[in-house]
Amino acid sequence: MKFNIITIFPDQLMQTLQFGVIGRAIENRTIELNFIDPREFSDNDYGSIDDKAYGGGPGMVMQVEPILSSIEKIKKESKNNIQTVFLTPQGEQYTQKQAELFMKYNEIIIVSGRYEGFDERLLDLTENAVEISIGDYVLSGGEIAASVIIDSITRLIPGVLGDDQSAVEESFTSGLLDHPHYTRPEIVRNKEVPNVLLSGNHKAIKRWRLKQSIMKTFKKRPDLLKKRKLSKEEQLLLDEYLDELDE
Ligand code: SAM
Repeated sequence: MKFNIITIFPDQLMQTLQFGVIGRAIENRTIELNFIDPREFSDNDYGSIDDKAYGGGPGMVMQVEPILSSIEKIKKESKNNIQTVFLTPQGEQYTQKQAELFMKYNEIIIVSGRYEGFDERLLDLTENAVEISIGDYVLSGGEIAASVIIDSITRLIPGVLGDDQSAVEESFTSGLLDHPHYTRPEIVRNKEVPNVLLSGNHKAIKRWRLKQSIMKTFKKRPDLLKKRKLSKEEQLLLDEYLDELDE
C-alpha cells in the first residue's frame, strides 16, 4: 500500500513510524511512504505556502495552489483510484471502521495541515476527498494525526503483525473492547493470574475471554454495546454477568 503524505515536516512522521511492526513494514516494502513537500509548488522564491487570512485575525492559512498541485502531481503519476484524506479537527472522527475502509485502497493521499489550516476552497476542489479528525482537540499540525492513520491501517495489512489473528481480536474490530491479558509470573505482588488461563481448556478460555470483553465494554464503553447486535452466546454471557452484579 502506498501512502502519499503532503507535509512540510516529513521527519516528524518518520520519527514515529520507523519503529516496531510499522518500521518493518516500511523496510520490507509492505507499505511505501512518499513524502511531497508542497513548498515545491510555492509561487515565490522563499518557498512559502501560507498567507494572511482574508478578513483579518491571527494566524496564517495554507494556500490552495501548492497543495492542489501536489495532489494533482501524485494523481498524474498513479494508475490507482486514490482516496484523499484532509486532516482537520473539524473532520469526521477517525475510527477502526474507517481504517478498515481506507485499507481497501492501494494508495491514499494524506494532507497534513499547519498554521490555521487550509483555505476552505481546497476541500471543494479535490475529488474523492474526506476530512478526518483524530479527536476533539487541536494539534499544532497534521503529522501526528497522519502517523495515527498510517499506523492503524498498516497493522491491518495481512502479514504485518506476527499473527494476523492479533488484529482480528483487538479492541473495536468486533465492536467490543479486547479481553484482559496476563503474562509471567503467575503471582505478582499477591495478585494471581485467573485460574482458567492456566487450565489448558481452550474452550473455557475462549468463553472466559469473550465474557471479559463483554464485561469490559459494558463497564467502560456502554455506547459500543448499544451500537452492536449481540450473538446468542454473547447475550447469554452479558445476562450471566448482570445476574452476578445483582447477587
Ligand atoms: N484552525 C483550525 C481549527 O480550529 O479547526 C486548527 C488548525 S491546527 C492548529 C493545524 C493543523 O493541524 C490542521 O490543519 C490539521 O491538519 C492538524 N490537526 C490539528 N488537530 C487535528 C485533529 N484533531 N485531527 C486531525 N488533524 C488535526
